[in-house]
Amino acid sequence: MSLTNNTVNIPFIDFSEQYQTIKDEVLSGLQAVFEKGNFILGQEEKDFEAQFAQYCEAKYAVGVNSGTDALYLALASLDIDVGDEVIIPTFTFIATALCVSYTGATPVFVDIEDKTYNIDPKKLEEAITDKTKVIMPVHIYGQPSNMGEIKAIAKARGIKVVEDAAQAHGSSYQGERVGSLGDISCFSFYPTKSLGAFGDGGIVVTNNQDVFEKVQMLRDYGRKGRYDHKVKGYNSRLDTVQAVVLSAKLKHLDQWNKMRNEHAAYYCELLKDVDAVICPQIQEDRTHVFQTFAVRVQNRDKVIEQMKEKGVGCLIHYPIPLHLQEAYKDAGYKQGDFPVAEKIANEVLSLPMFPHMKKEQIEYASQSLKEIINT
Ligand SMILES: *Cc1c(COP(=O)(O)O)cnc(C)c1O
Repeated sequence: MSLTNNTVNIPFIDFSEQYQTIKDEVLSGLQAVFEKGNFILGQEEKDFEAQFAQYCEAKYAVGVNSGTDALYLALASLDIDVGDEVIIPTFTFIATALCVSYTGATPVFVDIEDKTYNIDPKKLEEAITDKTKVIMPVHIYGQPSNMGEIKAIAKARGIKVVEDAAQAHGSSYQGERVGSLGDISCFSFYPTKSLGAFGDGGIVVTNNQDVFEKVQMLRDYGRKGRYDHKVKGYNSRLDTVQAVVLSAKLKHLDQWNKMRNEHAAYYCELLKDVDAVICPQIQEDRTHVFQTFAVRVQNRDKVIEQMKEKGVGCLIHYPIPLHLQEAYKDAGYKQGDFPVAEKIANEVLSLPMFPHMKKEQIEYASQSLKEIINT
């Protein structure tokens, strides 16, 4: 592969080879659902909930329509309402804040750590008020937040912890799986997540039986019996066809996460002499699943343009911290409020990452980045 050959195309994500490894199981499972017609909350959906709860080392799981709904229904199950505050990191995907807004509560933003890009536990105290009901850490890119410190602060004040684990299926903190680290954990199965459906999907995981029963009602019109409605619920269920896909994929998830880790290590090895590129650091007490592999560079917007010219698909996760988003301008934050997040948002560059990447693709992407940085 020549570095001036503009026919090179390294996609940011390519799941076509991954599909081949699950194709037979997916197609036969889908055919069975199509023949039975059990599209809504069929047995396959219930089976997947049990499998995913077990995978997370938790007692219960409830499949829902999306990761956003998982977060929203988790907060709703805790009766979060107008006048309450929910603390979230400002450096995340906007859904983390939207689900808070849906409840009528106020998202309160907190800055992140320079080394993990996750919410900074040292900055939590100053954000906590009498109205704080929930702290919602996001395990950004697939590396768990500092759950030990976050849980200690929350517990001392009777605040609940809801994990936004939308990017972290399978990672662990001090030997415990994401999904069992908070009071409630929420996952997305958006297709590009490390466990992705063939459409939208999400799941709420918990060890709390009350939360479990409430979310089960909330996702299904608030009903207990067929026409016995206990609360004003929603229509937010995980389709049986998506559960078939997810069950087939879940069996391979640990292997695929391992492949992602190998790719990340190879990238870091190839880029280790380039001082101007900062590679991700995995904290000693956690594992990472590299749903996103983001490095940091200066003049990022110019670098991404040149990477595209060389045929390497790159993205930015995320260019604008939530406190500076137009959608949240009513919250009254301003530039300079969260300096670490603002700096990181200007520097991050997500490189191609998917389990079935080839070594040569990693080599080409790294070499391209090196050349751009050194000229
Ligand atoms: C993807 C994502 C969500 C939302 O999930 P959807 O399934 O797209 O609704 C929420 N939080 C984070 C951190 C995400 O990455």
